[in-house]
Amino acid sequence: AKTYDVVIVGGGAAGIATAASLLKRRATLDIAIVEPAEFHFYQPGWTMVGAGVFQPETTRHRMESVIPCGVTWIRQGAASFLPDAKEVALADGSHIGYRILVAATGLRLAWEAVPGLAESLGTHGVTSNYRYDLAPYTFRLASTMKPGRALFTQPAMPIKCAGAPQKAMYLSCDIWRSAGILGGMQVEFHNAGGVLFGVPAYVPALMTYVERYGIDLNFGSTLVAVDGPGRMATFERKGADGEVERIERGFDMLHAVPPQKPLDVIAGSPLAGAGGWIEVDPATLRHVRYPDIFALGDATNTPNAKTAAAARNQAPVVAVNVLAALKGQAPVAYYNGYGSCPLTVERGKIVLAEFGYGGALLPTFPRWVLDGTRPTRRAWFLKDRMLPPIYWHAMLKGREWLCRPKPIVPAVNEAA
Ligand code: FAD
Repeated sequence: AKTYDVVIVGGGAAGIATAASLLKRRATLDIAIVEPAEFHFYQPGWTMVGAGVFQPETTRHRMESVIPCGVTWIRQGAASFLPDAKEVALADGSHIGYRILVAATGLRLAWEAVPGLAESLGTHGVTSNYRYDLAPYTFRLASTMKPGRALFTQPAMPIKCAGAPQKAMYLSCDIWRSAGILGGMQVEFHNAGGVLFGVPAYVPALMTYVERYGIDLNFGSTLVAVDGPGRMATFERKGADGEVERIERGFDMLHAVPPQKPLDVIAGSPLAGAGGWIEVDPATLRHVRYPDIFALGDATNTPNAKTAAAARNQAPVVAVNVLAALKGQAPVAYYNGYGSCPLTVERGKIVLAEFGYGGALLPTFPRWVLDGTRPTRRAWFLKDRMLPPIYWHAMLKGREWLCRPKPIVPAVNEAA
């Protein structure tokens, strides 16, 4: 098997950013990316597609256009991981070897876990911004809606971009408000979890919009079945006595977010921990059992918000630590859990959640420039105009002015 200095499995947000970051630091590295897909997607844009703000085509680029120059693209999926042999088995049965492996395979959307959902998507008013081809249908439904009932669902955590289920709801409500039909709408949010947003600092601003739009909040309410033609959604809710009750709700529009699981190829591999996610140190992103393996992005067990913003901050940490590992040294950089979720509360305004491990607030800007706990036009401008070019032209190119890897041992005399 051919052996590379670094093999990166997955050419999504995390994998491409890591390859670019490594090459920026050492241009001569021999890197291979294992990735079967024809397209690379900017998934954070799908919320905007679902509101008619972005055109879908702007959220996807051909894979070859984002793979950095000089990197070998192995255009197939990884079939299994053989960490003891330092090899990855590919879909065609061949093997490749590595000195260091970076796993960045993302997560799996488990559409099949909700009976009736997969076959209803794209028809009967059933949609989801979690798929490239369906986000435009969300906008079509919202913009042609007649007064009626709209349901928005959120599955159990962890999910990628935990704010995205409610972003779709607020932007749809804003469309109905502009069209003058909001008063005739019954809008329900069914969240399997128990809170509107995991970091309390952002909840008051969100609650203002829940009230303004007249949204009926249902916590501990899990979507368990969909009957598209009958336009009926079934939810399971645990009562205070622990009894599970089933509730049926008719709908004119259903925005469903599927349960999210580790990929089978990861869960069945030695890389996985108990829950099936890749088990890495939350600070160094190095595998807890295999020192020559690192992982980042949605595939890991780290308790940060699974976002592209997290991957943007993880990539340079992994790059620096991979270069150290290639020299046989211990990790030298750490990740603080930064993740970000721009909550689109209305067209033109965003509550910009930015936080790290333990829910610590980690705002990029001083409060007088941009207060993330309040809805602001500046945060909308950032999401609408700044973040897409930052993603394509900075994050995926190894330009890291927004996120410098922090040294594990802070230099004590640095300030002096
Ligand atoms: P992905 O980008 O999903 O990439 C995984 C890659 O691995 C894919 O290219 C896939 O083809 C490849 N792969 C899969 N299996 C294999 C295999 N066996 N072998 C090789 N390759 C494989 N984040 C934000 O920061 N802000 C937002 O506002 C935001 N909004 C979002 C809204 C929606 C609707 C969605 C769906 C996501 C949103 N996100 C947001 C989350 C963000 O898109 C993800 O967290 C990010 O893409 C994770 O990067 P990743 O590289 O880990 O996974």
